[in-house]
Amino acid sequence: MLWYPYTQMKNRPSFPVVKKGEGAMLHLEDGTQLIDGISSWWSAIHGYNHPQLNEAILHQVNKISHVMMGGLSNAPALQLAKKLSAITPSLKGRNYVFFSDSGSVAVEVGLKMAFQYWKNLGIMGKNKILSLKNGYHGDTFKAMEVSDDSDFSRAFSDVLQKGIFLDTPKGGFFATEQTLDHDFEQLEAALQKHHQQLAAFILEPIVQCAGGFLVYSPLYLKKARELCTKYNVLLLLDEIATGFGRTGKCFAAEHAGIVPDIMMVGKALTAGYMGHAATIASEEVYSSFLADGYEKAFMHGPTFMGNALACTVALKSIEIFEEENYLKKIKEIEFIINHEFSGINSGYIVQKRVLGAMGAIEVSDKKYLAGFKEYSLKEGVWLRPIGNVVYVMPPYIIEEWELRKVLGVIKGWFERKNEE
Ligand SMILES: *Cc1c(COP(=O)(O)O)cnc(C)c1O
Repeated sequence: MLWYPYTQMKNRPSFPVVKKGEGAMLHLEDGTQLIDGISSWWSAIHGYNHPQLNEAILHQVNKISHVMMGGLSNAPALQLAKKLSAITPSLKGRNYVFFSDSGSVAVEVGLKMAFQYWKNLGIMGKNKILSLKNGYHGDTFKAMEVSDDSDFSRAFSDVLQKGIFLDTPKGGFFATEQTLDHDFEQLEAALQKHHQQLAAFILEPIVQCAGGFLVYSPLYLKKARELCTKYNVLLLLDEIATGFGRTGKCFAAEHAGIVPDIMMVGKALTAGYMGHAATIASEEVYSSFLADGYEKAFMHGPTFMGNALACTVALKSIEIFEEENYLKKIKEIEFIINHEFSGINSGYIVQKRVLGAMGAIEVSDKKYLAGFKEYSLKEGVWLRPIGNVVYVMPPYIIEEWELRKVLGVIKGWFERKNEE
């Protein structure tokens, strides 16, 4: 029997069974079709069943699917590391890529790197992490510790050793320095007080996704970069949800033009085909692990890291992203979301937030979204609110009519609500 995630199993839920995907469309076993508005947890950026991605995997599977990375290597892993190193923000043009099998593990790896970096430099006592309220970094233990409390971690609150949390920066994407004044002060105060214990500051750049699609200003990221350098604290950017174009830039850090010390990517990395993620370290972080002995080496090694099929599909995904100018597609999606959102109005709505290929509508109470998922299913659209937020994160290849239909279903929901 299958045990589903984040699901009360008591009533033996039976979920729609997907038989086939094509573009943004999911074909169910019972013959109905759903337009996917959320890209299978934000990962399927090229939609489903993409001919070039399929072909790349088929080609690779006939050579080698997987080989251990302890002592052996494979060409797709080497090429993907080189590619990621080239396209991610970096200072000296060089980044170092450590693969793992999921986003949560990539976060664990990033945190382990951060703690060990300081030890390798001979600086002791840095054993805490600074993070943001409403942040989400995964479901494994250290990832839960640096995430804000939520339904995801409630059952373990007595086990978790929480670090230090700052408020989500105020004022949205276009906040001014003045609006952010208080957040800057809070950040500097925390760094001033705790920097001797702080190994790193981890945050989701620009958009806090699972925490409710909260958007904040690039100015805050710039300030975080400046102050982390000043106080000797590493800056870790969790781009697992924002990476590969979701916010309108290839990586959200580019909105601020900053370079993190360590960055994590996952989700869209493999275009939703299979689990894989990467932790990408700057040359400076990487260099601290170099020594004649073994003690300074990095002690982590997931069985399936550098999986040749995963790396192959990631390489092809990035190639298509670049060659077909996906950033332009994403601009068009942003335009359509903005346009359709402007026609959605209701007293229940607190705020609408749009950035890149992401649109979110926050309502004042999650009870106003009760039954939404079932409603949109009936309308032929796959959407799944998080708490008091209904959002879209469509595959970038979604057809215009499909996107307008997805947004129309959200509009229809609020029109019904307004009549109640
Ligand atoms: C989804 C997510 C993770 C966890 O990734 P998994 O692959 O589900 O383990 C971590 N950080 C962010 C920002 C995410 O959105």
